[in-house]
Amino acid sequence: MSEKILVIAAHADDEALGCGGTIARHVAEGCSVHVVFMADGVTSRPEAEPGARQARLVAARQAQAILGVRQTRSLGLPDNRMDTLPLLEVVRQLEPIIEEVRPHLVYTHHHGDLNVDHRITHQAVLTACRPVPGHSVKEIRCFEVLSSTEWGAPAFTPFEPDIFVDISAYMDVKYAALTAYGEEMRDVPHSRSAAHAEVLARHRGHCVGLQAAEAFTLIRKIC
Ligand SMILES: [Zn+2]
Repeated sequence: MSEKILVIAAHADDEALGCGGTIARHVAEGCSVHVVFMADGVTSRPEAEPGARQARLVAARQAQAILGVRQTRSLGLPDNRMDTLPLLEVVRQLEPIIEEVRPHLVYTHHHGDLNVDHRITHQAVLTACRPVPGHSVKEIRCFEVLSSTEWGAPAFTPFEPDIFVDISAYMDVKYAALTAYGEEMRDVPHSRSAAHAEVLARHRGHCVGLQAAEAFTLIRKIC
């Protein structure tokens, strides 16, 4: 079914790690996928080189082209400091985009991630997508991001997926998008390595009898 899908990620690379294969599959199936990045993912780093922000933007553009994303927006919120903004302000930046795109399905972060921007993005998305009468969003799925979801404190509900999307035919596309984000990827045995991304996709797939999958938790589905 052709539908509009919005991926709301804190940083450029979260979308490729969390649902790159699923985006590619949605696009191949005729859906129109839009992406929003909340923060730049770079400026909070003390070691960030001049031009790092621009380099991340170029990488993001490449990755979006590889994945087949229709349109990408960047809100430029303070990186790794989204907790310095009132939640209402974050929600107010998202709402007009959701109104304009009118997505049926939204992907965003898991609420228990270690990264504070991921957690606030999750909260803002749930607020902006309140199921009031006439709201376009009928389904919200949360993805996992290596080196954040599995590093969250045990006090948060762990990521226990209930949706598995077969990406066996889209692993190459996911890798290509991750390769575009080469600067963000690390070497084995760091958790955010391309090799670990493959292990995770194989693990999620094999759990449900597939070659490879991306897994999600469902917030709600209205149908
Ligand atoms: Zn992130």
